[in-house]
Amino acid sequence: MWNHLARKYINQALKRGDIKGGNTSCKYYPCSFDKQDCTWCFCPFYPCLLSHGEFVMSPTGRRIWDCSHCRVVHEPEMAKNILKELKEKGRPIEEIERGEIIWTMRLIKPLRENYIFNRP
Ligand code: SF4
Repeated sequence: MWNHLARKYINQALKRGDIKGGNTSCKYYPCSFDKQDCTWCFCPFYPCLLSHGEFVMSPTGRRIWDCSHCRVVHEPEMAKNILKELKEKGRPIEEIERGEIIWTMRLIKPLRENYIFNRP
């Protein structure tokens, strides 16, 4: 099941047909790193539960997945790969299992690992 925000960004990207580039009009830009891509402003994989994140308590006491060290989806090359995979499925997002796309990330794991910030 996709998060509704993830679905929104996926549908926007599929409609646009390409990555968005850096959204320099966003007041948070760059929220991750210089020259980042903003296509996946809301990560389609959240919460991916992969090794580079961890559960933490939010200020309101909720248990949330903290992946603030991860830059994967903001790397332009990776953003393109994710969109390419989604396009190649050729089906509406409602018919695609989230796991199918997360599996895609495993296929490009070596690439992904180069994009993870070193944890402090
Ligand atoms: S990813 Fe989203 S919040 Fe971050 S700079 Fe881009 S548009 Fe702003």
